[in-house]
Amino acid sequence: MNAGRKIVVVGGGPAGVAAALAAKQQDAAADIVLLSDETQEPYEKPPLSKAVLTGKAMPHDAPIAGPKGVAASGVRLTLGTPVKAIDRGARAVMTDAGERIGYDALVLTTGSINRTLPMFPEGQKGVFYLRTEAQARALKARLHQGGSLLVIGGGLIGLEVAASAAELGVKTTVIEIAPRILARVCNTEISELIHERHRSRGVDIRVGTAVSALRELTDGRLGVDADSGDTIAADLITRFPGPHGPVRLENWRHAQEHGAIAGRNAAGGDVVYKVAPSFWSEQHDMYIQGVGWPVARPSARVRRPLGAGAALLFELDGTHLAHALGINAQRDMAVVRRLIERGVPVDARELADAGKPLAAMLKAKV
Ligand SMILES: Cc1cc2nc3c(=O)[nH]c(=O)nc-3n(C[C@H](O)[C@H](O)[C@H](O)COP(=O)(O)OP(=O)(O)OC[C@H]3O[C@@H](n4cnc5c(N)ncnc54)[C@H](O)[C@@H]3O)c2cc1C
Repeated sequence: MNAGRKIVVVGGGPAGVAAALAAKQQDAAADIVLLSDETQEPYEKPPLSKAVLTGKAMPHDAPIAGPKGVAASGVRLTLGTPVKAIDRGARAVMTDAGERIGYDALVLTTGSINRTLPMFPEGQKGVFYLRTEAQARALKARLHQGGSLLVIGGGLIGLEVAASAAELGVKTTVIEIAPRILARVCNTEISELIHERHRSRGVDIRVGTAVSALRELTDGRLGVDADSGDTIAADLITRFPGPHGPVRLENWRHAQEHGAIAGRNAAGGDVVYKVAPSFWSEQHDMYIQGVGWPVARPSARVRRPLGAGAALLFELDGTHLAHALGINAQRDMAVVRRLIERGVPVDARELADAGKPLAAMLKAKV
């Protein structure tokens, strides 16, 4: 064991917290320093577009490391400390305040930032971006005044905000440039199902629509010109990151598990990352989940019949499950994850038969 090893983790999101805690577990004698540019105990971001906006929770209700915080695990948490530079030769990071902090191993978990669109400068009246708790508080305060909301981008977070706004009685329109919503994460069938559920809750979703200009209308509201020729008026606009490249995994589970493995390895471990990618999203009364890697040409697509309001779709690659999408099917999806991660061979007819328990399929020889 390397007693006294110093590990610096930069970034206090789920990846950074998981890295710091896993490093401490791997090497209890190590000095673990977690540097975050934010000023509060690391908190979970998923509630920001859901319970925080509707007023059912506050950001500090969901600390990543639990109610006792990161420090309870023996990690030194330093808040309000942006790291500005890394001196790899000298093995040190430099903070904004000019402090130099040496390390034996450095883990970078700085996450990503919102892409700002020149047409929608942050800070302009009525324009909101959502990533941090401060941005969530600002958007929440405005949504609770009522009025109308225009969401640009029909991705997971945009649709979650649309669902939260609709719940608050805010008239909501979503503009999506692609021919369908959630094109990056769902197949057409699930996209249409989710689209329909939004429509039934009063959300106006316009697919295949691009934005060409933003202007202030004479009544003080904002007007967004769409390439369809329409102008959509709204009191506020929320802008989210658009579709990413094919291997970018912007989801909580990946951040948490990848971070933990990075932290363990920084503290002397030797663990390989082989977790099936997955996401979840909550919109209206739907708990939407996806797991696995979609394949360009699945050998079979199978639907498992479930009760009303629920759906479960599989894509197979030969005898193996490659990808699955579920709505309100959390228990089944937990088993599906294990089928995918263990590479268990499956039978398409059994998957399509709700009378055949998925858990029994885990017993098949790999
Ligand atoms: C509104 C919202 C809702 C979401 N909902 C879901 C969901 O329902 N399901 C799901 O799977 N995923 C969801 N996600 C995605 C999930 O939260 C992210 O994938 C996850 O937070 C990424 O974790 P991370 O640790 O890599 O990065 P982040 O959470 O972005 O954390 C990075 C941290 O590093 C800090 N940092 C950056 N640069 C520096 C620096 N130089 N010095 C010091 N600190 C720095 C940042 O301020 C931040 O605190 C949501 C994200 C958002 C924004």
